[in-house]
Amino acid sequence: MKKNTNWEYAPAPEAAKIAKIAKRYDHFINGKWTPSQSGKTFRTINPATGRKLSEVADGNDADVDAAVKAARAAYEGLWGKMSGRERGKYIYRIARLMQERAREFSIIETLDGGKPIRESRDIDVPLAANHFFYTAGWADKLEYAFPNRNPSALGVAGQIIPWNFPLLMAAWKIAPALATGNTVVLKPAETTPLTALKLAEIIADSGLPEGVVNIVTGAGTTGAAIVNHPDVNKVAFTGSTSVGKFIQQTIANTDKRVTLELGGKAANIILEDAAIDQAVEGIVNGIYFNQGHVCCAGSRLFIQESVYEEVIWKLKSRMRTLVVGDPLDKNTDIGAINSKEQLKTIQKYIQLGQEQGGDMYQPTCKLPSAGNWCPPTLFTHVTQSSVIAQEEIFGPVLAAQSFRTVPEVISKANNTPYGLSAGVWCDKGARLFQLTTQLDAGVVWGNTFNQFDPASPFGGFKESGFGREGGLHGLAAYLEM
Ligand code: NAP
Ligand code: MG
Repeated sequence: MKKNTNWEYAPAPEAAKIAKIAKRYDHFINGKWTPSQSGKTFRTINPATGRKLSEVADGNDADVDAAVKAARAAYEGLWGKMSGRERGKYIYRIARLMQERAREFSIIETLDGGKPIRESRDIDVPLAANHFFYTAGWADKLEYAFPNRNPSALGVAGQIIPWNFPLLMAAWKIAPALATGNTVVLKPAETTPLTALKLAEIIADSGLPEGVVNIVTGAGTTGAAIVNHPDVNKVAFTGSTSVGKFIQQTIANTDKRVTLELGGKAANIILEDAAIDQAVEGIVNGIYFNQGHVCCAGSRLFIQESVYEEVIWKLKSRMRTLVVGDPLDKNTDIGAINSKEQLKTIQKYIQLGQEQGGDMYQPTCKLPSAGNWCPPTLFTHVTQSSVIAQEEIFGPVLAAQSFRTVPEVISKANNTPYGLSAGVWCDKGARLFQLTTQLDAGVVWGNTFNQFDPASPFGGFKESGFGREGGLHGLAAYLEM
């Protein structure tokens, strides 16, 4: 089908000027901006242009130690003794401040990480604020949330987050820790530290007692320093399965508590009675949302044979309408790939998919000359053993297969080391539940995909990790009972 060039969108760029990014950011330790003890910094860049946004302190063991000491002192002092009702007030205040500065947050999230402004504005930032609102409400009701269990805080939580939802992941970690009376040392990802540092500004403005939340920036070694610190009571990690396994080994002979939110390879299953147009939207949302940098992305598509041709035809024509490019443009559907390294990884998988006999489809897109870009990609003629159907790519690459019967698709969908999420598209409720109860996945969406809510627990099975974030389960992970 030829693209109708008369229907191009006019550019609608968000005004980036209102976002204030300092030339340099230090660590946020004990309520103060503190340079790294080594004096070292690293650059964070805009992946859509390749240009530097800011210099950020590079944390070492000594910086992490100072942050943990501050968190311990705050826990033993004011915060540990404060009533849930008082704690809740601070958390509500953080949520409201985040709403007030939502526009600035969404612009910085998009500049630093490459995701479309539409997503950071409508999903990341509002959801992050909602997590603070939700947990704030529980802060004075923990006795009711967990009756007869005597819930009490664990102490100092060491938290490490990835680059795909930088602010949202910080909220998922910090909000429940505060509501349950713990103090925090958090490390954002190396490529996307800015919104966590902006969050530190809000935390300072909220008057939260010094040392309750500490943000230390740096690379993997800074994360390792948090995991290894003897005075950390709980490690909360979101990231890759390989680093998660390493963390599990590191803390094996300690009494540290741990939750691991790791990778995924979700099945998105289209049954023959599904509403096809709606399912195609769900497929697109499932894999191309946030450039496919989504742990629960619907990266394996299973289509029942009788509707296979129709779904693929409609999917390809929908893919041709996706706008790839400037993440600050409000029309953009697919922004920049987060880093050069991630782009190389995605390209390696696209190459492998072709070498292993997959049929690749990419619509023609005009890609900007600078920055990291990957058009939406679909593979058909994929086999179950193909690498692109087995391994997490973490990019806009979808591997489609067909199936005939429900038992067949259940066994195919479960045939993966991961177990984070899945989606089922089907007209009959009973059939939908039959499938969802047999899928090994922490979250299963029915006739929708990528829906998140602070009240709903999220987490995985198998190599997708253990522990839950969100809901009461997410609070329980920060409590001794
Ligand atoms: P990653 O390489 O594992 O990094 C995650 C975080 O850990 C980053 O802050 C990283 O620092 C740090 N880190 C690296 N090595 C470490 C070590 N030895 N000890 C302690 N910390 C260390 O993962 P990623 O590539 O950033 O993120 C993508 C992965 O996250 C995907 O597999 C995705 O599925 C998963 N994820 C899971 C969920 C979930 O809820 N299950 C949600 C989002 C993402 P640097 O930034 O310096 O590398
Ligand atoms: Mg960046």
